[in-house]
Amino acid sequence: MNRTTLLFTIAALIISAVLFIAFRPKMTKAMTPVAQTADEKPPGGRRVVKTNAEWKKILKPDQFYVLREKGTERAGSSSLNDIHEDGTFVCAACKNPLFDYKAKFESGTGWPSFFQPIAKNAVKAAKDGAFGMVRTEIMCSVCDGHLGHVFDDGPKPTGLRYCMNGTAMQFVKN
Ligand SMILES: [Zn+2]
Repeated sequence: MNRTTLLFTIAALIISAVLFIAFRPKMTKAMTPVAQTADEKPPGGRRVVKTNAEWKKILKPDQFYVLREKGTERAGSSSLNDIHEDGTFVCAACKNPLFDYKAKFESGTGWPSFFQPIAKNAVKAAKDGAFGMVRTEIMCSVCDGHLGHVFDDGPKPTGLRYCMNGTAMQFVKN
């Protein structure tokens, strides 16, 4: 490759990159209407990143299983199911506020259910193809901890059902 070819290639790459950034499709938008999109930052730009060994020291075994290994708690097992007091459900790992009690509803599933997160960027969504089902996984936007899934059979006003693991959250009274 001579110098001219090299310069031409570099110029072509830069132009391609600029065009891609300018016209890239909004791919993440289709996932759910309320969960965070790729270019949005978590609340306050806060991030908590730890190794699995570090998380193991902080979290109880059942919390580690759900939050870090994407496990699911047994339906009806969480004490958060029956809480309808004035307060906020926060991430059990990093304390990021996730859901307001006003968005909680009785889904009859045995898992704490909400129709929207406390802020659009409190959670983030990802496609989950595990067990042959295509579902949308919901994670804490600050620590990436697995919280549960979102479905489109929820009540008004959003029509969404955030099916959460109570193990992954804590309730903080207002
Ligand atoms: Zn978190």
